[in-house]
This record gives sequence, structure tokens and C-alpha cells, in this order.
Amino acid sequence: MLGVKGFGLSLVSMAGIATLAALAQEARPRTHPNPCPPRQTEVRPGRCQAPEFPPPSIVDYRPRSTLVTDEHLVPKAKFPVVDIHSHTGPTATTIDRLLKGMDALNLRVLNNLSGGYGNSLKQNVDFIRTTKYADRFTVFANGLNGFSGVEGGYGAKAAAQLEQDVKNGAIGLKVFKQTGMRTTKRDGTRLAIDDPELDPLWDAAGRLNIPVIIHTAEPQEFFEQPTLTNERWLELALFRDRRNYDPGQVKFETLMTERNNLFRKHPKTRFIAAHFGWHGNDLGRAAKLLEAFPNVVLEVAAVLYDFGRQPRAAHDFFVKYQDRVLFGKDSYETTEYPYYWRVFETKDEYFDYYRDYHAFWKLYGMDLPDPALRKLYYQNALRVTPGLPRSGWPAG
Ligand SMILES: [Zn+2]
Repeated sequence: MLGVKGFGLSLVSMAGIATLAALAQEARPRTHPNPCPPRQTEVRPGRCQAPEFPPPSIVDYRPRSTLVTDEHLVPKAKFPVVDIHSHTGPTATTIDRLLKGMDALNLRVLNNLSGGYGNSLKQNVDFIRTTKYADRFTVFANGLNGFSGVEGGYGAKAAAQLEQDVKNGAIGLKVFKQTGMRTTKRDGTRLAIDDPELDPLWDAAGRLNIPVIIHTAEPQEFFEQPTLTNERWLELALFRDRRNYDPGQVKFETLMTERNNLFRKHPKTRFIAAHFGWHGNDLGRAAKLLEAFPNVVLEVAAVLYDFGRQPRAAHDFFVKYQDRVLFGKDSYETTEYPYYWRVFETKDEYFDYYRDYHAFWKLYGMDLPDPALRKLYYQNALRVTPGLPRSGWPAG
């Protein structure tokens, strides 16, 4: 029937159209295994059926895996680790407990990105220096006034503040995600991260030989409507402040363009793109970013679920770009770090992530070789951040 020549599409029977459609569908992979209407699933090709029991909600459905396979839990990282992306610093009451937790995990340095600026930054650093553990805790400065109310002259003032903060012991500059996304200038418009007013600040970081860790945007799906095909539906439904899809809100791609303009414009400044620049789900794009900008490295905080669902591609990426990846965790939670060690160090299969709402899928180990692991865990951080403690690292 399909082979009949000389028939235009208008003459093809209804049955023929259906077959054509089916063929067209077969030719490319379907993006979702279930093409059926809501509350039904495909039980045979083209046949949809509703379950007899009322379906549970995705919050309640927690299937127990029957897979029996080797497990290699990794409570302690194989090599000492710099957590370049933390928001935790020690206080007189927490330092002993912190150190105990860090030692158990093999976390050698915890770098607090919430260092503040001016007096509060100085106090943070000074406290660390009064303890016996000045080689275990470091601090990044934050922009003057949190980048709010930027107007003519801000850049020069912020650069001078950064210089003072570095004198006071800051070893880098952290830019929070609000900057570029929500923070407004004095005139009420959104402050784009590539705004020329900020140029003196980025140049100062380069001159002072400190890295800038920058959190730009959010996972791509946070900028899309929470439809039933949005893989971050649950997270969007849980957290109001992660919804970035309202009309008038800045778009994901706009933020990427502005961020890349920044990287391009300041080749002598080293940038650490936090959360893998939100390209953990598209390693081809991550590779392009690294190829385009030699002054940029990527940091892995809070995107473990993206590496763990593509362990082979992630393995190859982390080997090929082994000089360009840094370890970071973001939230200091001692029970969660071992998931990172397990994904990076083992070849375990099909194991749980620590947060259902981040990723309802399972993780697999990347089985990284030792040289790549050492670079990821501490060597790259030491190169990118000269202010980190230089002694006490393993030889080689
Ligand atoms: Zn953070």
C-alpha cells in the first residue's frame, strides 16, 4: 500500500496515514516511553490501558529494588578533598564537631563561600586564625553590598573592597545566583552579570590572583512550566523560589549568554562555574564551554545526579577534562558526601541518590582512575586557588 507510486498525500487512505505516522514514529527514538493519555500506560504497542488500582502519587510510590549486586560504600574519600563550595565556617561551638565530621570524610579543607566583606569577612578569617586549624578552613569574599543598587562608580569601589578583603585573608570571590538573575541596579533594572560597571571587579580578581566562583542560573527545567514531562516537577512543586518560568523572568539562555560574555571579556580572570555551569545534563555543551574559555573550570556541587545517570559519558568527560573539574558540595551534610565518593570512585550500579526530589532515578559509579580523582578532589583546587593551604598534601 505504501509503495504505490503517483499518489499524492491527499489520496492516501486514512489507514495509510496512520501507518505513515507509525513509521515516522519508529524512525526516531520516542522522548517518552508512554504515549498514552493521562492515567493510562502503553501495555502493547499502540494499546493504552488504565491500572485497576488507583495509581499512587509520585510522592508515595517508592519501589524497593530487587536487584542483587555488589555494593561498595565509600564513607571516606580515597584522597584528601578540598570542598571549594561550602557555606559553612567554624565557630567556637561548632569547630570540634566540624573537624570530626571532616576527618571521617577525608575533607581536608572546607571553603566557606559566605564570607561576607569588610568587617564580617575579617572577623570570619580572624576567628579561623585564632584556632589551631587555620589550614582546614578558608573563606571567599562576597561582593560589596551584595551587588545591590549598582550605579556608576560601584565597580571601582567593589574592586577596592575586594583588595582589602584579600589583604584580610579572603582567597577568592563568590558571586551568588541572585546576582545576574534577580538583583536590581539603582535604576531598577536587572543587573546583568556582564554589565560593564562590574568590569573593574573582575579585573581586580585577576590582578589579585584569586578565582571567582560564580553561580549563574538554575537547572534548565526550573525555567520551564512544571508540566508532567518536566523532570524537576516535584522540586518545583515543593519550592516556590525555584520557579523561574513566570512571564517577565529572565530566561535560562539569556543568563548563559551573559555569563559567557563575562568569561570572554576577562580572559585573565579565573572563573569557577559552580554547579557545572548547569551543563551536567549536557556534557557536550560543558565541553564546548571549557574549549571556548581556558580561564574557566567547573565545580560539581549539587549536580551529582547528572553524572550518576550517565556514568560512562561522565567518566570520559572527567578523564578528558581532568584538569578542569573541582569538587564542591554546597550544603555541608556529612551523610551526603559519601554519595559523591561512591559515584566518583566505584563502579557500583543502580543505587539511590540522597534526595528524591532532585532525582527520582538511580545513580551509577563512574570508576574514575586515581590521577583524575586526585585532581578533582584537591590538585585542581590548589592550582586555581593559590590561597589554599599549600602543605600537608600527599606527594605526587
Ligand atoms: Zn552555594
